[in-house]
Amino acid sequence: MLKVTKFGGSSMADAGQYRKIKEIVNSDRGRRVVVVSAAGKRCKDDHKITDLLYLCHAHTQYGVDCDRIFEMITSRYIEIRDELDLKLDLETEFAELKKRLDAKAISQDELVSRGEYFSAKLMAAFLGFQFVDAVDWIKFKFDGTVDQEATYAALKKVLKGKGVVTPGFYGLMPDGNIRTFTRGGSDITGALAAAALDADVYENWTDVSGILMADPRIVDDPMVIPEVTYDELRELSYSGAQVLHEGTIFPVREKNIPLNIRNTNAPNDPGTMIRERFSGDNDPDRFITGITGKKDFTILHLSKRGMSNEVGVLRKILTVLERHGVSVDYAPNGIDSVSVVMPSAAIAPCLYTVLGEIQQEVKPDTLDVYDQIAVVAAVGRKMAFRPGISGKIFAALGQADINIRMINQGPDELNIIFGVDNKDFAHAIRVLYNSFVK
Ligand code: ASP
Repeated sequence: MLKVTKFGGSSMADAGQYRKIKEIVNSDRGRRVVVVSAAGKRCKDDHKITDLLYLCHAHTQYGVDCDRIFEMITSRYIEIRDELDLKLDLETEFAELKKRLDAKAISQDELVSRGEYFSAKLMAAFLGFQFVDAVDWIKFKFDGTVDQEATYAALKKVLKGKGVVTPGFYGLMPDGNIRTFTRGGSDITGALAAAALDADVYENWTDVSGILMADPRIVDDPMVIPEVTYDELRELSYSGAQVLHEGTIFPVREKNIPLNIRNTNAPNDPGTMIRERFSGDNDPDRFITGITGKKDFTILHLSKRGMSNEVGVLRKILTVLERHGVSVDYAPNGIDSVSVVMPSAAIAPCLYTVLGEIQQEVKPDTLDVYDQIAVVAAVGRKMAFRPGISGKIFAALGQADINIRMINQGPDELNIIFGVDNKDFAHAIRVLYNSFVK
């Protein structure tokens, strides 16, 4: 049994968290590969080390000294080292790093990668595991994508000993320079390690006991989703739930490795298990897996008599939008009318030009714009082929006096998406949660 474990920033924030991790790792012999983030926030007003590193780089670029910020970074790691009584010379490496920073002789990517690097050095010493640098196995191609084959082969080669700790977030370019993933990218490193080693599970340890069924800022104390498929997760994340870095899923899904989200602060909680599919059904009455959504969409609605018999109307509308680089999220239609729905931020800069061009090229009878629209998605694999579900959902919303502005459901029946006014957004989510989850 091999479990690849990744610990996020809040799990790495201070010595106390390191101790929790040690207990977690030591409690299961399968946990032999550990991927770590840079130290995150210890409390709400604290700083993430990665943010401070970006700040240092920006300061030096503008010729402003960053001694104080740099000191905040080094003291955090030294504090962890001293509290855990580790014999590790960090001072020499910090001094070397500062020298290069002052001389502007370090790239932004390399500098910000040091958060993960020092985390991994400390954690390896604390666990008594081997430190494997990410540059020795995460290999990028020149186009910035990961060279999976080379990466997988390299990790297998460097892996020795009873356990390893490796930094997340960065790897090596073919020219020998360090490159980072986008923010939150340690999730990807963990997924790549799990895929490279054909792990039995990829455990992603964070500070919540799994993916929540709804946003806790809207619903009080929402339940954790015990099981979710990769497809459902994709729907949930696309529609607004912030879960994992989007590049995380692909490597583990490809190898059919389950992904388990766990809580470092509550290690006995089972968390959320993510798989391609689940065989049994522990809770047949619950047909909604999660509820999510986003505010601030704009609907362009146009009608034209006889449109259903006219070829190319939708194409013409989409071509205008494409010309302006606007991607359409939904396009519900009637017989002689169609709406296109997109984030307001995407259409706002070119709204009047787009309207003018649609007017000219499509010649609709009416063309209206509605904004302040929120999109809500009820996601659930168990909704498929079960009659009456959308009826129940819309009845609940109707009873709560929530006006539905748009409805959209894909043929895979994995979700029901509807639009409401921004002002009804939180209410709609609460109504769904209270009616169908609780
Ligand atoms: N430390 C990086 C960040 O804050 C990467 C990560 O933690 O996943 O984005």
